[in-house]
Amino acid sequence: MGCPLSVNKKGRKAQYSDNDIQNIGDKFMKVAIVGAAGRMGARLIQAVQESKNLQLSGATERPGHPQIGSDAGVLAGVGELGVQISDDLTAAMQDADVLIDFTFPEVTLKNMEICATLGKMIVSGSTGFTPEQKKQAEQYSQQIPVVLAPNMSVGVNACFKLLKEAANILGDDFDVEIVELHHNKKKDSPSGTAVRMGEVVADTLGRDYNQVAAYHREGMCGARTQDEIGMQTVRGGDIVGEHTVYFIGMGERIEISHRAMSRDMFARGAVRACQWLKDKDSGLYDMQDVLGLN
Ligand code: NAD
Repeated sequence: MGCPLSVNKKGRKAQYSDNDIQNIGDKFMKVAIVGAAGRMGARLIQAVQESKNLQLSGATERPGHPQIGSDAGVLAGVGELGVQISDDLTAAMQDADVLIDFTFPEVTLKNMEICATLGKMIVSGSTGFTPEQKKQAEQYSQQIPVVLAPNMSVGVNACFKLLKEAANILGDDFDVEIVELHHNKKKDSPSGTAVRMGEVVADTLGRDYNQVAAYHREGMCGARTQDEIGMQTVRGGDIVGEHTVYFIGMGERIEISHRAMSRDMFARGAVRACQWLKDKDSGLYDMQDVLGLN
């Protein structure tokens, strides 16, 4: 493993002092980022650059992407890093300790297979996994440490904890409805975060989320049942991500909301997950584990 580096004004990483190295040496890791030209890709490169103990050593994009061959740092606006974006993940991972992947389930599963073959760790924020795809991810996590989390923000993970608390206190007397808003390019609906919120509430109330989730109401569909958890999805413009869980009782209503104002905190969460994952055994972890909330 190489020597820890820091960022100079041009964006390149420069050597730390001996003291710095003593402080961070144990935690130093090299990181590859997949989907480097995506909405999250640039934020992830910036967050890795800002962290003291991570260094970007590889970056990939899908074959045929116009940014193949570009410098990842220039693309992310942090200055030249000498890391060219390639379409070969196996080559990009040779020098890396951990892969950060914010892509899509089918891509993530292929990347997990490559990481498992190479014995490298992976932190993935991809959303939209089917139950079968989740099982495949679980299988790869028997070989390598994996963090898989539909939302890497500390605030959202605090909300998961608050939702459990609220559901415990309010019980079955309050109707639960979830509304989520995202930008008009988002591919999966409802968001992975909204589904996780529904699962947290359902689990706490002793319900099976897949049985009680109500995704669609139209026409004479009848009154809502007591157990159902309504899930509404709004798509438009550049909304980064907003989630509200309503607990609606007779004469009162509680709303637990989270609004993401930028994508930076997702990227900082991914960096935190990489740092936490170092020295962990193989297994499937989420942000609740990373933040010590489990
Ligand atoms: P995006 O479409 O902007 O970026 C995805 C990038 O992956 C694209 O640049 C695409 O070209 C690239 N890609 C596709 N196939 C590839 C391959 N085989 N190899 C390398 N690169 C490949 O999407 P986005 O908005 O950045 O979101 C990506 C994922 O992250 C989505 O699943 C989204 O829901 C999720 N997300 C999660 C969190 C979280 O906190 N967990 C936060 C934001 C977004």
